[in-house]
Amino acid sequence: MNEGPDAAALHERARLSFDLDVDICIVGAGLAGLTVALEAARLGASVAVLEGRHVGWNASGNQLGTVMPGYALSLAELIERVGFEDASELWALSKEGAEYVRGLATEQSMPGIGLSEGALEVSNVDVGDQLISRLQMLNEDFGTEVEGWQVDRVRSELKTDRYFHGVYYPKAFQIDGRKYVHGVASLARRSGARIFEDTPVVRIDASGIRKRIVTPSARLRASHIVLAGNIHLGAPLRRLSDTLLPVWRYGGVTAPLGDRLGEVIAFKGSVADTDNIDHFRIVDGDRLMWASPETTWSANPKRFAGAIGRRMQTIFPKLGQVEISETFGGAIGQTVHGMPQIGQLRKGLWVTSGFGRQGLNTSAMAGQLIARSILWGDERWRLFSPFELVWAGGPTGRVAGYFVGLWSRSASAAAGALARHRERVRIQDRVREARLAEANRQAGSRPAVRRPPPGHAPTGRPRPVRPPPPRPQPEVPVPADQSGGEGA
Ligand SMILES: Cc1cc2nc3c(=O)[nH]c(=O)nc-3n(C[C@H](O)[C@H](O)[C@H](O)COP(=O)(O)OP(=O)(O)OC[C@H]3O[C@@H](n4cnc5c(N)ncnc54)[C@H](O)[C@@H]3O)c2cc1C
Repeated sequence: MNEGPDAAALHERARLSFDLDVDICIVGAGLAGLTVALEAARLGASVAVLEGRHVGWNASGNQLGTVMPGYALSLAELIERVGFEDASELWALSKEGAEYVRGLATEQSMPGIGLSEGALEVSNVDVGDQLISRLQMLNEDFGTEVEGWQVDRVRSELKTDRYFHGVYYPKAFQIDGRKYVHGVASLARRSGARIFEDTPVVRIDASGIRKRIVTPSARLRASHIVLAGNIHLGAPLRRLSDTLLPVWRYGGVTAPLGDRLGEVIAFKGSVADTDNIDHFRIVDGDRLMWASPETTWSANPKRFAGAIGRRMQTIFPKLGQVEISETFGGAIGQTVHGMPQIGQLRKGLWVTSGFGRQGLNTSAMAGQLIARSILWGDERWRLFSPFELVWAGGPTGRVAGYFVGLWSRSASAAAGALARHRERVRIQDRVREARLAEANRQAGSRPAVRRPPPGHAPTGRPRPVRPPPPRPQPEVPVPADQSGGEGA
């Protein structure tokens, strides 16, 4: 779905045109399917991956490459849902997933992968107190290295008044996401997995011990089927696709911006806001990669170039006009509960899906869990059992999801505007107090006296010099820039 050079053209695409018998058949060659393939092949299984388009065609080949611990579901909600102990195990798994990606994404095995360290989560509102308890929990209870950044520190790295506090993850990192998915495919091939592209799976029969998989030009038999088709799975098990709310997310990369980029963004890692609206990082030294607009239908990413550029300017006005030279986009599958779908649906029928916006660490962890479960009997996938397959509402759900998305973006933009307004008022108050103190000092009065309300001027005391009247306060602005444009 990207507008850049077709990375799939880097290797010859093989379509399945003959019948085949394997241990494990995987439907979908995104991050999820390919990681299962790599791990299962490494453990000695015979593996076939069937991909309807080409490797990394959807979200997996069109993402920002930020690798962090955690899930779409917040830590507090996770604890509430499954209790502290299981939440802690689930969190540890999500960290293992990130470390797994780090282990694979070396320059040696994936040349040009460009791993760089550190990610920053910034808040759109002033929530210092909440931040402290979150930091304590992450550090002390969940063994995750994090630093809390005060507003000044955030704003020395990111020249904008949009962001307040930040949580810095020194162990998070970023990689070239497109190279990574192709890198996993080539490692899987080298380990013996066979990947067939332009080979959609149109039907499965998972009832017997040997399961049947039907494609337009061939049939397979396998002991295990792994469904890793994300929102596009369709015919083989439509009820499963219907448990995901599809959201198309779009990104763009600017033309080289020269020194002006470094003047507004000093931070070298990925930045994401806590409301999941903007996600960006510097690539190639002086280009800005940015993802923000979303729709619940598929659209051409090129349409969003203007909206992405405007969004960059909204957050970083000093950046000025930017040219977006590349756009990309992909569909992510969101579950109703916010946790991925990982596990066994019936004997020998597996699912690994629903990774949402945070798919790199989670799909890597799922790949390991499923391969090890099939081949070694590892049962840790059961930690995901409390998160059942919940119907996402079909077309009505998509429409509702769209409006909920719009609403939450507006709500968060309004909260951000309110926080910035309060901050401006605080600054103006401080300036006013200082002016008043100075005026009193000049008038020889001590200590600084507040200006009395009209009609209540005290008598018999030294009269402070009246400071200039405060400038009228703007009303709380209603943001016109929540996501910047077309359909998002
Ligand atoms: C703009 C954007 C930025 C993102 N940034 C990040 C980020 O920085 N960090 C992060 O962790 N995550 C990020 N994500 C999320 C991440 O990309 C996804 O969670 C992840 O790629 C999902 O992988 P997947 O394998 O489940 O799905 P997909 O990538 O959708 O792969 C599924 C594959 O299955 C194939 N398929 C489906 N049905 C069939 C069938 N019947 N027969 C054959 N093949 C089939 C499809 O063609 C597709 O290729 C981002 C996503 C987007 C869109």
